[in-house]
Amino acid sequence: MIQNLTEHDREQLQEALGKSGQKVTPQREAVFTVLLAQRDHPTVDEVFQRAREVMPGLSLATVYNCLETFVGCGLVRQVNHERESTRYCPNLAPHAHFRDKATGRVHDIELPPEVLKSLRSILPPGFDSEVIEISFHGRAQSGEQTSN
Ligand SMILES: [Zn+2]
Repeated sequence: MIQNLTEHDREQLQEALGKSGQKVTPQREAVFTVLLAQRDHPTVDEVFQRAREVMPGLSLATVYNCLETFVGCGLVRQVNHERESTRYCPNLAPHAHFRDKATGRVHDIELPPEVLKSLRSILPPGFDSEVIEISFHGRAQSGEQTSN
């Protein structure tokens, strides 16, 4: 069910970890595989359940450490919606999140370059943004569910 990493994904993992002086371990590879396999913004617990299918001996603490490492080296984004468990997103392209109040699911919404440019233009002089976080809360129309 869960595919192995492609050559490209493995290189991305290796490069990002390498830049922060870290190495690829089988555990990190397993967790990264799980994140890429199903891009539905899983919580730590969900990643843990799935990762155990790939690597049965994995502990929750290890999964948590892997995720922290990925966030630290910019490989994965944390997604926080008030009072909810942190979710993890491997989509590194600029995007906003849409949280569906009915299902609790979080969808990626692409941010076109012109929108990003326009958003940056509202910053006062002397401010430069590294990260823009936008989240929409609402309801997706039924039958219009975006895929993972
Ligand atoms: Zn996302």
